[in-house]
Amino acid sequence: MADPFEKARFATKAVHAGQAPDPATGAIMTPVYLTSTYVQEAPDVHKGFDYARTNHPTRLALERNLAALEGGAWGLCFGSGSAATHAVLTMLSAGDHVVSCNDLYGGTYRLFTKVFARFGLEFTFVNAYDPAAVADAITPKTKLVWVETPSNPMLLISDIKELARVAKAKGALLAVDNTFATPYLQQPLAMGADLVVHSTTKYLGGHSDVVGGAVVGADKGLFDKLKFIQNAVGAVPGPLDCFLVLRGTKTLALRMEKHCGSALKVAKHLLEHPEVERVHYPGLPSHKHHNLARAQMRMAGGMISFELKGDLARAKRMAALTKVFALAESLGGVESLIGHPATMTHASIPREERLKAGLTDGLLRLSVGIEDVEDLVADLDQAILRSLEK
Ligand SMILES: *Cc1c(COP(=O)(O)O)cnc(C)c1O
Repeated sequence: MADPFEKARFATKAVHAGQAPDPATGAIMTPVYLTSTYVQEAPDVHKGFDYARTNHPTRLALERNLAALEGGAWGLCFGSGSAATHAVLTMLSAGDHVVSCNDLYGGTYRLFTKVFARFGLEFTFVNAYDPAAVADAITPKTKLVWVETPSNPMLLISDIKELARVAKAKGALLAVDNTFATPYLQQPLAMGADLVVHSTTKYLGGHSDVVGGAVVGADKGLFDKLKFIQNAVGAVPGPLDCFLVLRGTKTLALRMEKHCGSALKVAKHLLEHPEVERVHYPGLPSHKHHNLARAQMRMAGGMISFELKGDLARAKRMAALTKVFALAESLGGVESLIGHPATMTHASIPREERLKAGLTDGLLRLSVGIEDVEDLVADLDQAILRSLEK
């Protein structure tokens, strides 16, 4: 089916792509089809839907919407970002090698090293923002290069075009976890990546009310392999979850503008704060990958990490003292969150690996929400001040 919104601009696609009015009723919103099976006219004569693990209309609308937003030819949705990652890795076989970044979402690192390593996949973690380090790590067995940019939680930027060139030259696929940037800020397929992976739990859903994941690509052969895996493994999202993510993507452009604008203000404020030691935000000229971020991304995103002066205990005190920023894992929702990666999101990464990536024990991470930015700044200020008291 040709999508009439294929040539539309981003915010228009976000609202419309993949979502024709319901053919039965004209309902403008894609219904939450709560069904596991579909009536067939004759054996194997049906409307393209035979069993809901294999094909599902609410899920299909979301898959088409995400494909349009990433500039891909197809999308496939999964029950979580981790399940989407699992699907991509399941294309590989025992003995295959993967090169990835050492500043990686903790759950992805855990899935690679604690699950897939047991099935004979091998992993090398390098500084992916140095394409030469990635090229050096590639061996004849390397089938996949997997990166996150901006990375989590150090917000380092990898050069997607350069990594695509390096991977292609050695016959490996490049997959980019685009969860932090979202397609509004950065479109890896247009820069040469083969696959884009999302935790739709984060900005795409955008309201901290659903867990989901997706893989988007352009190549038909990759679609066939991943569609087979989606159906064979069965880690599919439910229809209500797909509906919630579809609702989320409609406002993605608006929300990202606000997240990014406020994050830049908060980052600048922290940078000037006498009690703050270091701020990591790609939108600051002091960030070591600032120019690359400007070249590759529309804006610098809604995530910030920073270090306070003083010890680990102080950082932990501060994280518990904010009132608008909720102390919680996850990110990308309308509400602001604060986290302590070393004990929360990244606790599954060994301390020496964390330190290699610059993730110190005192590092704090912010997901800047869409509240009034003056309230966010005031909240951080009061928490920083009170964290001085023991
Ligand atoms: C959250 C997250 C994931 C995992 O997604 P889930 O939906 O929690 O399984 C993967 N990558 C990044 C960058 C994430 O933030």
